[in-house]
Amino acid sequence: MVTLHLEELFQMRETFMKVNIVGVGAGPSNLSLASLIHPTGLSNQFIEKRSEFSWHPGLQLPHATLQVSFLKDLVTLADPTNAFSFLAYLHETGRMYQFLNAQFDAITRQEFTQYLHWAAAKNENVCFGEEVERIDFDGDFVVATSKRKLRAECISIAVGKVPSVPHFAEQGIGETMFHSAYYLAHSHRLAGKRIAVVGSGQSGAEVFQDLLNRNGPDAPDQITWVSRRERYAPLDDSPFTNDLFMPCHQDYFSSLPAPNRRAFLKENVLASDGITESTLREIYQSLYLRRFVRDAPNTVNLLPNRAVENVSRDGASWILKMLHGDTRQHEMLPVDIVIWATGYKNATFDFLGPLEDRLQTDNDEIAVDSSFAARWNGPSSRPIFIHNASREQKGLSDPNLSLTAWRSAKMMQRILGRPFTSEPESSSVCWGPHVALPGQALRTA
Ligand SMILES: Cc1cc2nc3c(=O)[nH]c(=O)nc-3n(C[C@H](O)[C@H](O)[C@H](O)COP(=O)(O)OP(=O)(O)OC[C@H]3O[C@@H](n4cnc5c(N)ncnc54)[C@H](O)[C@@H]3O)c2cc1C
Repeated sequence: MVTLHLEELFQMRETFMKVNIVGVGAGPSNLSLASLIHPTGLSNQFIEKRSEFSWHPGLQLPHATLQVSFLKDLVTLADPTNAFSFLAYLHETGRMYQFLNAQFDAITRQEFTQYLHWAAAKNENVCFGEEVERIDFDGDFVVATSKRKLRAECISIAVGKVPSVPHFAEQGIGETMFHSAYYLAHSHRLAGKRIAVVGSGQSGAEVFQDLLNRNGPDAPDQITWVSRRERYAPLDDSPFTNDLFMPCHQDYFSSLPAPNRRAFLKENVLASDGITESTLREIYQSLYLRRFVRDAPNTVNLLPNRAVENVSRDGASWILKMLHGDTRQHEMLPVDIVIWATGYKNATFDFLGPLEDRLQTDNDEIAVDSSFAARWNGPSSRPIFIHNASREQKGLSDPNLSLTAWRSAKMMQRILGRPFTSEPESSSVCWGPHVALPGQALRTA
């Protein structure tokens, strides 16, 4: 006689459960879609490999703030009445008045993480501690996870991005050289060390600021902040720049030829990758206080306009080889620890292996249509939605929270086959062909 353990019986019962939608990953992108689906009655399962919710845990520094308005939450810009909004979170956790009275210029990343955690915990369709390993297609999608198999009509892939370091540094990654995404995991190793932070986006600035704020026995011996940019440049958070993060601009951007799109991304990089002005001010003030008020020994080196070209070992030290952008001379910097704050790149979708040949690409990205569904040779009633992996096709806002709710609404529209939310408002700026004002004669040359 064969005896089955309870766990095996449970797995057998779940085998080939069929749902409308399976989501891969439960970061903000898929949590947004899961929240919009929740009231519709469509069956869904969102599968997350982490054992519990977390959002960029290696950089959850206590004073780090959100770089966008808290209204750019999971749902509000697509459906302000949805029960998973940030305002619903404030209300349900009994802090609405005090949140208003606190008058934050920007909310902390810690509180936004708590909100995301709350939204994930409240949604019974979000499953943690389970990894999607393989997706096949036999008329429906067949999703194999580390725990079970599911059938689905739609797939929603939101696996985020992975840390990126220069190829010459890859071999040395370990305890003394790591990406800023793992900063907190290594932060106990930094006291008394000579440290180089490479990269001057928001992550590099936050790491540098945290190192500057360390005192006494926790303080590093030296801190050097290296940047390829010519200066420590602010995020452009001004009103007209923020219009670039509206649905109408994303539509316009997508309609442009690839060379125009690439040029635009390069030209406007500081609209998304600069440093928040308040962070720059705090860093500048810390440096001022160290130098003029506390008369502290000078242990800080600011080195902009240097491209790091190589890193090598010299005994226990790392030697950074840097090229100065103007003098064109090389400089060598010996340090004990290197922290690469050099950004992120698209994750590979290994679990899509069986379908890979059926997907169209657009340069290095999977090509997506206006509803963010992959262009593939399967039936259009079986969409594979892709979040946060189409920056070259969709623009600066793709990896950002700004259009997360709108992107999910576009997917909902495709799933439901009808408009999901009202048409997004248009900007006052005319991005594309000139539209004549009433009575204005329009001429094109
Ligand atoms: C430090 C930091 C701060 C940021 N702050 C802001 C900000 O203030 N404002 C803003 O607009 N943007 C910000 N961003 C941009 C950021 O990309 C988005 O905020 C957001 O995290 C994107 O969400 P996502 O769900 O697409 O990806 P992620 O948040 O990366 O989530 C992807 C999830 O997929 C899971 N996963 C991966 N593979 C599998 C698998 N095979 N099976 C199951 N699960 C899987 C991962 O475990 C992960 O939880 C920040 C980025 C960083 C790095």
